[in-house]
Order: sequence, then C-alpha cells, then structure tokens
Amino acid sequence: MKIILASGNKGKIKEIQTYCKEHEVYPYSQIIEAFEIIEDGKSYQENARIKAKAIYDKVKEKLDERFIVLSDDSGITVPALGNIPGIFSARFAGEGASDKDNLYKLIQELKNNNIKHTSAYYTAAMAIVTAEGDFTVHGWMHGEVIDEAKGDKGFGYDPMFIPLGYTQTLGELDHAIKEKLSHRSKALYLAKIIIETLRS
Ligand code: IMP
Repeated sequence: MKIILASGNKGKIKEIQTYCKEHEVYPYSQIIEAFEIIEDGKSYQENARIKAKAIYDKVKEKLDERFIVLSDDSGITVPALGNIPGIFSARFAGEGASDKDNLYKLIQELKNNNIKHTSAYYTAAMAIVTAEGDFTVHGWMHGEVIDEAKGDKGFGYDPMFIPLGYTQTLGELDHAIKEKLSHRSKALYLAKIIIETLRS
C-alpha cells in the first residue's frame, strides 16, 4: 500500500518509515509542493484529521493509483506544569521555533518551578484518510522529564525524557528502545491493523 505521510518533520518521517518497512512510505512533499496547514484543532486527534484530510484532497488530484494518507499529531504533556505544552509542543517557544528552542524552554520551565524531575507523557494521534473512510488511533508513552538535556538521539524533547522503567533519556538510549516503547509505535501498531484490513 502506498502511504503518504502528512508531515514535514524529519524525525517523525524516519520513525514511521522504519516502523512501516513493508509499505511504500513517502512524505507528501515528494508528491505535491509543501503547503501551510493551519492546525487549529483543540486536540491531537482534531489536528491529525485536519492535516490528513487537507493533504488527501490535494494528492487525490495528482495520483491515479490507490493510496492512503497518514498523519501524526503528537506532543508531550507535563502535569506538574499544568499540562503544558500538550498540543502546542511544536510551537511552545513561539511560531517557527526549532526543536532545540522548545526543548530548552521546557527545561527552563522546570527550573523556574524548582522541579528537577517529574512525570510526563507523550501522545500521538494518527489519522488515516482513505477512499474507504477515515480513522484515528492513539498511542502514549509515560515517563519523566528532567531539568537538563542528555544525549543527541531521537528528536524534539527526547533528550529530557526518561521512559518508565529506564534511567537514561531517549537522547541516550538506543533507537531500538524508542521504537519498542514509543507513543508513535503504539499508534502505528493500531494504524497498521486498519491499513491491512483495507488491503484485504
Ligand atoms: P506536530 O508536528 O505538530 O505534531 O508537533 C509535534 C511536536 O511534539 C514537536 O515539537 C516534536 O518535537 C514533539 N514530539 C512529538 N513526538 C516526539 C517524539 O517522539 N520525541 C520528541 N519530541 C516529540
């Protein structure tokens, strides 16, 4: 099945391509010109649907063969800081902020509140838009955030996130461990069941 990813985020694209090796997976920018999508939903699920639908409609005009669009809207939540940054994870340090800006802003928030480590979790909502209909699934990864960045693996907030049951951050742990535990892998596990059902 041809899967078009509704994302320009290199970290996400790499993880999804690794997890879906048996499918042809392309970022949408390889099919059509990248364009801005206003993510004004109130939840990860709404934002994932907004992205996938917008891209499905444009790709449909270009591709004759069968395809599906898969989008991922994700982020990290820190309950001790009032559930920030949540759906605003990508623009936590402002519009156009880099992953590093967002990471260090969250570290600074912990420091401002004298928190050295506290519970946190990642959420991924995935929307699958197909000729047969639309679907959404979720995945979560629980753990802790710490008030410093360690390691350079993964992306985004990974250098400050320690998964439950581990002592190192996702920046330090092997990619294979993140692939086993992550919110994205869990959502993809469910998404793949739907994709296989459509194929049969
Ligand atoms: P989105 O592309 O609008 O869904 O934004 C996702 C935001 O959450 C980005 O800032 C990412 O850095 C962050 N994020 C989502 N998933 C992960 C992850 O697996 N590791 C680190 N940061 C993540």
